[in-house]
Amino acid sequence: MMNCPRCGTEWPASAAYCPSCGTPRSEIERLFLDAARVANRAVDAGVSALDRAAVAIQPTVNKAVQAIRPAVDATAKALEPVARDVASATKEVANAVGPVAEKAVRKTKAAAVKAADATQRAARKVSARARKQ
Ligand SMILES: [Zn+2]
Repeated sequence: MMNCPRCGTEWPASAAYCPSCGTPRSEIERLFLDAARVANRAVDAGVSALDRAAVAIQPTVNKAVQAIRPAVDATAKALEPVARDVASATKEVANAVGPVAEKAVRKTKAAAVKAADATQRAARKVSARARKQ
């Protein structure tokens, strides 16, 4: 169902004419196309208005960035030693954990090898028993 753009009456989209005012489908479609064209033009106008606005506020944005920059630079400079401390502390922790981690990996590997051996032995036993039957 759609509404006739001329008289507002609801009519089935498959009908060739508006049942109320008799406007033909082609006329309806032309009216809708016109409406779409008007809408597109409005959107284009909005976009170019936005572009103009962006150009107009650019100096203000630049001024704001320039005003903020010293504060940002100062903050970055103040944080530099902290960042260096964190980096060296991370390195120390990594160095301290390194040998422990290696030991854990070695132990895990040994356990995995033992488990694999046990599984192989069990599998051999099972297949040997199956052959006997
Ligand atoms: Zn109509």
